[in-house]
Amino acid sequence: MPTSLQTTASTCCYCGVGCGVLIEHDGKTILGVQGDPKHPANFGKLCSKGSTLHLTGDLDARALYPELRLGKGLARSRATWDSALDHAAKVFAETIREHGPDSVAFYISGQLLTEDYYSFNKLARALVGTNNIDSNSRLCMSSAVVGYKRSLGADAPPCSYEDIEQSDCLLIVGSNMAYAHPILFRRLEAAKAARPEMKVIVVDPRRTDTCDLADLHLAILPGTDVALFHGILHILMWEDWIDRAYIEAHTEGFDALKQLVRDYSPTVVADLCGISQADLLRCAELIGKSPSFLSLWCMGLNQSTAGSAKNSALINLHLATGQIGKVGAGPFSLTGQPNAMGGRETGSLSNLLPGHRDAGNAEHRAEVARYWGVDALPETPGLTAIELFDAVAEGKIKALWIACTNPAQSLPDQSKVHAALAACPFVVVQEAFFTTETCHYADLLLPAASWGEKEGSVTNSERRVSHVRRAVQPPFDARPDWAITCDFARRLEHLLKPGLPSLFDFASAQALFEEYKHLTSNRDLDLSGLSYAILDNQGPQQWPFPAGAQHGTARLYEDGRFPTASGRAQFLAEPYCSAKEKRDGRFPLLLNTGRLRDQWHGMSRTGTAARLFGHAEEAVLSLHPDELRRRRLQDGQLVSLRSRRGELIVPVQADENVRAGQAYLPMHWGNRFLKGLGTNVLTQPAFDPLSKQPELKLSGVEVEKAELP
Ligand code: SF4
Repeated sequence: MPTSLQTTASTCCYCGVGCGVLIEHDGKTILGVQGDPKHPANFGKLCSKGSTLHLTGDLDARALYPELRLGKGLARSRATWDSALDHAAKVFAETIREHGPDSVAFYISGQLLTEDYYSFNKLARALVGTNNIDSNSRLCMSSAVVGYKRSLGADAPPCSYEDIEQSDCLLIVGSNMAYAHPILFRRLEAAKAARPEMKVIVVDPRRTDTCDLADLHLAILPGTDVALFHGILHILMWEDWIDRAYIEAHTEGFDALKQLVRDYSPTVVADLCGISQADLLRCAELIGKSPSFLSLWCMGLNQSTAGSAKNSALINLHLATGQIGKVGAGPFSLTGQPNAMGGRETGSLSNLLPGHRDAGNAEHRAEVARYWGVDALPETPGLTAIELFDAVAEGKIKALWIACTNPAQSLPDQSKVHAALAACPFVVVQEAFFTTETCHYADLLLPAASWGEKEGSVTNSERRVSHVRRAVQPPFDARPDWAITCDFARRLEHLLKPGLPSLFDFASAQALFEEYKHLTSNRDLDLSGLSYAILDNQGPQQWPFPAGAQHGTARLYEDGRFPTASGRAQFLAEPYCSAKEKRDGRFPLLLNTGRLRDQWHGMSRTGTAARLFGHAEEAVLSLHPDELRRRRLQDGQLVSLRSRRGELIVPVQADENVRAGQAYLPMHWGNRFLKGLGTNVLTQPAFDPLSKQPELKLSGVEVEKAELP
């Protein structure tokens, strides 16, 4: 080991488990990574992605200098930061003056740190005067936000990782934890090995590696979750496995739900969900008879046109059984991205404001405006991800700022998004990797610092805030995201509001955190007692952590009081509605998309590490062997995969884990197919009416032998 080797404690930049890492470096270059034994998320363990982080810093893939294109069709050329940001400020100011503040938009990311989010939010709402700021977290967990807020009164996952280990019965729905949250899954595996009486139920149309741990796997038909949850409640009520005292003391709306679920008999639900009545009854029995019951869910529940209803129907089960606010119990949504939680907290979805406030609430707007020292915040509702790119396509958004995300790969109906970006008069992309599909459309590319190169904070799935520390300087001209945003904002202020004191005089990420945290004071997520010093001295902490607190809060709602108007949790009585896109003669298969164990999102980072292709070299379509036989296709053959929106040519494999009538394709590939762009060429942009989260996991498709181009 070289004598100059130093170690900096930070966090992994991939999933919402939020593992602590020790970055090994020589002050200039990151040389290795170890799990942080002191971090309470992972206690020293790392998964295949986290343990190879140091292999992903390839400068060949990094954006290193600002690059500016002075006209569509021209090549970008290298620019200084001054000229790049002056140009951007001029274009944004002219656009705002000519077309109004809602003619510009910001599309940001769950990969950003809390301080980055906060600076973007202040820029959009306080300076520009628009609510057109949305995040790729819209694709990830906005249905969970709606679910928590409607049922429990606040967007707050009430559990801790320890509850997963202490639970007697876990219901894992729409989550392949073994791949997407590997370290948490390992904690669950170890807990089940130590307590074999713990029961695990997995609900997933596909048999995934997570099912290896399951006592019961319910391979429901895609999109039928609400029917399943109502069917379980029907049985719980019938068998009197509900907690009437809890319902009476702490909830509202049970009578309406009781009426609704009468229609969801085991016969009806087993038929709707495509499972056996015996399995349905067994599932209800495991939940109803277990001393504690905890549910975990992720994209499989959230990415749906019924995502909000699915979340509420699942939370209903916890309220009806009193399984919330106690050890080993509660509805626990897993966040996909490392700081999707920070985005929710800082109000980085168009309908939110910092401190779990709502942009549609006049009182909330006035509170934030007062704190920021501006007259008012904008009232017009902001556009959500799909709406935002539709508005770009329609020419309503004339200047678009994209940070740390790759919508040209990740949004559904990908071809339409590419056309929108190509037509947008001015696209700024703030990115660490110039290789993303979105960078291709950047009129201005701004190089951002990446993992190990910047400071700030993140919140993981269990509400735990960690201090993210910088190990090395960003390469060449790359800068931290918050610094880019604030520098741009100061230049825009000069053009739009000359002579006024700047709202963006922040010298460090810490200064942003200190301003932001007071906006959470006396809110459900109160972070006002936290500081970088406390995080350094006491380690990562779970909110709420109000001023004067000695430690964070492991579990919410232990006293049975909820942050609703009445103090009671709300049962939601919403019927099951079938998915809008159905199988038909032309598109007889339902396509599900998902994650591989060793890749992350659009692979801008993981795609640079050869080792991470050892698990899966390429995207392969999985079909049940009967479907291959029906089409006279061979395992390994190239096939044409078509939906109503586009076509890909992709290899196919026989896979008994996928039910007949369905298909499965990983979502990571954005442009590497023989024909077509990426997986999301096929997916549909329909979204949930409340959460606006799109239906990325259910699209009608057909497969046939490929006519090679
Ligand atoms: Fe990183 Fe998630 Fe793996 Fe932990 S489980 S090392 S946070 S990718």
